[in-house]
Amino acid sequence: MKGLTLRLCHLYPELMNIYGDRGNVIALERRCAWRGIRVEVSRLTLGDPLDPGDFDLFFIGGGQDREQMLVCEDISAEKGAALRQAVEEGAALLSICGGYQLLGRSFLTWTGELLPGIGLFDVETVGGDTRFIGNVAVRCTLEGAEGTLVGFENHSGRTRLGPGCRPLGQVIFGHGNNGEDGTEGCVYRNAIGTYLHGSLLPKNPRLADWLILRALRRRHDLEGLPPLDDSLEEAAHRAALSLIRRDSGLLWRAIRGSGR
Ligand code: GLN
Repeated sequence: MKGLTLRLCHLYPELMNIYGDRGNVIALERRCAWRGIRVEVSRLTLGDPLDPGDFDLFFIGGGQDREQMLVCEDISAEKGAALRQAVEEGAALLSICGGYQLLGRSFLTWTGELLPGIGLFDVETVGGDTRFIGNVAVRCTLEGAEGTLVGFENHSGRTRLGPGCRPLGQVIFGHGNNGEDGTEGCVYRNAIGTYLHGSLLPKNPRLADWLILRALRRRHDLEGLPPLDDSLEEAAHRAALSLIRRDSGLLWRAIRGSGR
């Protein structure tokens, strides 16, 4: 894969980064480097212009309501239109939790502030007075990345999907989009929104490769990516699943113990 370059845009790295979200960028860089693909990472923040043709892959992490308010104003100005255009033209994108919410139509925080989103995803989010916190397992239904995803969630927002996007997968354990309809995340073209922190990609390498391949296809004619030795990544995935099995056993015992 020598001679290929992937242009990665990390949005608001200093504001939108919790639970190791920037590890996703490191995982993308490493998986490309192991295949001889050059990665150029640009970090854009408040006030920086964004040209939709300049990048193949975008990443935005999660953030607290306070940081989301700062980013909201900036992203819903020119950057939002540029991001929508890039995704329409085939760019890949990964957004986590607070970033995912800001790429939707709106986020009404649990304290009553209405943050307008950029409408890339046909989703709406409303904050609740309790938080969804804990390990999550998801059955990913994304074509080319089917299988289990593991991660960690911590959000007050409940996200509902409209007809313009589809879920990333179905919750096996945890809460996902809203704790009610069993969906987790959303997909529109090559753009993904998800509640999974973690970092997500180091222990879900199939999803990392799904993004890398779609991003490279923006400018290169490629069938697929050469496989890597993922034994460490798979061990990390299994370790996260065993924590979830432990949590679900504890939950099951708690439910039985409460007599319900
Ligand atoms: N502030 C948002 C919420 O609580 C997002 C949190 C996050 O990114 N983990 O729903």
